[in-house]
Amino acid sequence: MQSDNVIIIGAGQAGGQAAISLRSSGFEGRIILIGDEPYVPYERPPLSKAMLAGELPIERSYLRKPEFYPEKNIELWLKQHVKAIDRAAKTITLADGETLPYAKLIIATGSRVRKLSLPGADKKGIYYVRTIADTLAIQNHLKEGARLVLIGAGYIGLEVAAVGIKKGCKVTVLEALDRVMARVVAPEVSVFYEDVHKAAGVDIRKGVRIAEITGNDHVKAVKLEDGSEVPADLVVAGVGVVPEIALAEAAGLKIDNGIVVDEFCQTSDPDIYAVGDVTNHPNAILGQRLRLESVQNAMSQGLAAAQAICGKPQAYAEVPWFWSDQYDLKLQIAGLWEPTDNVVIRGNMAEGKFSVFYLRNGAVVAVNAINNMKDFLPAKKLIAAHVVVDPLRLADGEVSVKELVP
Ligand SMILES: Cc1cc2nc3c(=O)[nH]c(=O)nc-3n(C[C@H](O)[C@H](O)[C@H](O)COP(=O)(O)OP(=O)(O)OC[C@H]3O[C@@H](n4cnc5c(N)ncnc54)[C@H](O)[C@@H]3O)c2cc1C
Repeated sequence: MQSDNVIIIGAGQAGGQAAISLRSSGFEGRIILIGDEPYVPYERPPLSKAMLAGELPIERSYLRKPEFYPEKNIELWLKQHVKAIDRAAKTITLADGETLPYAKLIIATGSRVRKLSLPGADKKGIYYVRTIADTLAIQNHLKEGARLVLIGAGYIGLEVAAVGIKKGCKVTVLEALDRVMARVVAPEVSVFYEDVHKAAGVDIRKGVRIAEITGNDHVKAVKLEDGSEVPADLVVAGVGVVPEIALAEAAGLKIDNGIVVDEFCQTSDPDIYAVGDVTNHPNAILGQRLRLESVQNAMSQGLAAAQAICGKPQAYAEVPWFWSDQYDLKLQIAGLWEPTDNVVIRGNMAEGKFSVFYLRNGAVVAVNAINNMKDFLPAKKLIAAHVVVDPLRLADGEVSVKELVP
């Protein structure tokens, strides 16, 4: 049983995937994919990696070539902002006042960057990385000798730092916590990455508090609470994102750190689905609700919502995974890191090819694999299996991780 038409709000990774999956799952009705950026749906990971370095043309980040959408009869309405959802009338309203009816609605509005709230945070020369426009603007300033200051040592800040070094910038990273990537990796991996960045010439300052950003019209320096100043030609802040829930909240959908959905991405309104960064969803494998900011989640939820709308529901439950590229290191993360009772290191840290397994009650709950793809895929299966593993065998390079998966 199919609905007449589906409107998707947000033409990013999850919205684009939902449109693609609706057609590939057999949906024959009208699909309108509305996004407020000027580009066809694209992948954001290259924004702080290869695209920022000028090594990946914009078109290579597109989920599908522009001609795909008319070929599949998907109406792509770009540079259009949706300003309201009327659930009673089952319509959405665009910023220009146009109203469109929907049979089913998919909200894929993603996240927006958390802005700095500091004196001087409105000066020119302060950037965030969320869109192609942001990346192009930053790229212009990554010149030999430019003084680049990153606020936040999360994966985005560190990826931009690595590109800055490659471009010959003088790079400083300012982090409030006592280690880098503290939200996503364990202390062992933070130390490894700190050493790599320091060796590349990055000045990493941890445990610092920023007092203000100084300069007249344009940023000149970042002033710390201890009175010291870090001169800056350019500041890039990576201090997290917030889910873009405004439309859903105003429409009265259930919200709790994101739009609350079930395992089929259905919201508290049966005709409205939500996918991607904006959702708070259940994960049966981990036995908890999550709000994730990852390509894997955006793609899988886009597919799950499309299947449910096509009357072929498949519950979404996967081990969360993520990656980060810094210098020649590929970090792959599966599971969610939090302090555990045992840590097993496999491989050789000094050679930059190793995996760190985190065990709780004897079972693997998360892995960080560095240039170690071979361990990563079976490690995801180990996490899903919830089995107790022998830490000595896990650490033994002669035993493949695959052998430990039941
Ligand atoms: C710099 C960067 C690097 C990243 N690196 C990685 C990585 O290495 N690996 C990984 O797994 N993930 C990475 N991510 C995260 C990943 O890109 C996101 O999780 C993913 O893009 C989420 O997809 P989404 O569709 O939910 O949101 P988005 O891709 O943000 O798309 C939402 C879209 O909706 C639009 N929109 C919002 N409100 C409206 C409205 N009212 N009307 C019309 N349009 C609207 C927005 O403008 C946006 O275009 C990275 C993200 C960034 C920013």
